Amino acid sequence: MKKSICIIGSGIAGLHLAYALKDEFDITVIERRTPEEIKEGRIMSTQVHFGSTRIREGRFNMPNWGEQSEIESIHITIGNQKLFAGMLQKPALSIDQRLHYARSMKDLAKKGVSFRLEKVDKENVEALVEGFDLIIDCTGKNGALFPFPIESELSPFLAPQRKCIVGYFTGIKANDPPGIGVTVLPGVGEMFEIPAITEQGPVTILFIMAIPNTELDVCKGVKNASEFTHAMSGAVQQFFPDVYERLDPEKFKLCDRNGFLLTAVTPVIRKPYLMVHDKLVVGCGDSVFLNDPITGQGCNLSSFCAEQLYEALIEWKHSKWDGELGESYWKRTKPFVKEVTAWTNAMTEPLPEHVVQLLLQGSQDQVKANEVAQWFADPTKAFEAFFSRLNV
Ligand SMILES: Cc1cc2nc3c(=O)[nH]c(=O)nc-3n(C[C@H](O)[C@H](O)[C@H](O)COP(=O)(O)OP(=O)(O)OC[C@H]3O[C@@H](n4cnc5c(N)ncnc54)[C@H](O)[C@@H]3O)c2cc1C
Repeated sequence: MKKSICIIGSGIAGLHLAYALKDEFDITVIERRTPEEIKEGRIMSTQVHFGSTRIREGRFNMPNWGEQSEIESIHITIGNQKLFAGMLQKPALSIDQRLHYARSMKDLAKKGVSFRLEKVDKENVEALVEGFDLIIDCTGKNGALFPFPIESELSPFLAPQRKCIVGYFTGIKANDPPGIGVTVLPGVGEMFEIPAITEQGPVTILFIMAIPNTELDVCKGVKNASEFTHAMSGAVQQFFPDVYERLDPEKFKLCDRNGFLLTAVTPVIRKPYLMVHDKLVVGCGDSVFLNDPITGQGCNLSSFCAEQLYEALIEWKHSKWDGELGESYWKRTKPFVKEVTAWTNAMTEPLPEHVVQLLLQGSQDQVKANEVAQWFADPTKAFEAFFSRLNV
């Protein structure tokens, strides 16, 4: 008889795992929202899937989104000085999670995965443990359902380091070559400009990461889509002239009334397993590895960790699932989690001088520019650049 697994949450982590594990185990996914509710709800992220994530999506036969709106480059600007556009080795893609999750859930249901519509809470979660060989908590950033222990050395913050101000807009001409714009405004925050695909077609995501209570923190008191659009348009005009030049005021609007998001994340990293009533419970994705979105790594980290968990479960398919398996999963993921987290946390601080020098070199040398673009696709390279002694 196949072992039974319950995945709570069908986001990036839960979907990867459901696709990867469905032929080997008996899978039940519990999700609090229907595909329609997700599709018609609020945007959730800016979700850039870099090359390695797209390879894993292919490996697990997840829905293919074609080559529309592929992201080929990363444009770096510091202050008002455009430095360069570095080319990615493999194109990235940003698909509105509302579309991605809804389509994938329906596809999985057609392929025989059982879905249960239910909001699991901390009070009833223990009852689930009895019914399955393994529970995987993939509930995302609102906090794990189980008390996975915090890794304090990787979790230095007690409060959000940035306010996240995100809108999906039409009316902005794409930058050239097509890519993500990263603007760093020392002392006040950053902006990502990201080409993306939604149900309504292509959009440009504007994602301001404001240091709280600075002048870039422009959405205090904003209550609705029209106030949001007004605040974003003013911020672009004041702080991001390169984007403003490409903005058509007649056509600048949100893709739909739920196409904006105001949020903030307190990063926290947890050891992703524990035993409950003698049964193993693991976490995957933001529920256990939650970083600030400032480096755009959450989906890629969730995807990486889902693949590692898949590998561990396949290796232990015929053995007892206990703390040893949990530890094996943690050992496989910890080095990568540590490097992504260290780089991401460093990005919330002023850029170190040697990193500024590397960026300036990128404006003189396309090879260096391409190396910087690759930091986002392979964050171990960013970790090396920020922390390797050779560069200090
Ligand atoms: C503003 C912002 C911008 C971001 N930009 C990027 C980016 O550019 N690139 C990138 O890689 N990452 C980005 N991220 C991070 C990325 O979105 C997350 O890391 C990723 O979505 C995590 O996937 P997940 O599966 O862990 O959680 P989620 O995607 O949050 O999915 C969790 C799922 O669990 C369900 N759920 C939650 N609680 C329960 C419950 N109690 N019972 C049942 N179901 C439940 C939810 O409905 C949801 O479907 C961003 C995040 C934010 C906030």
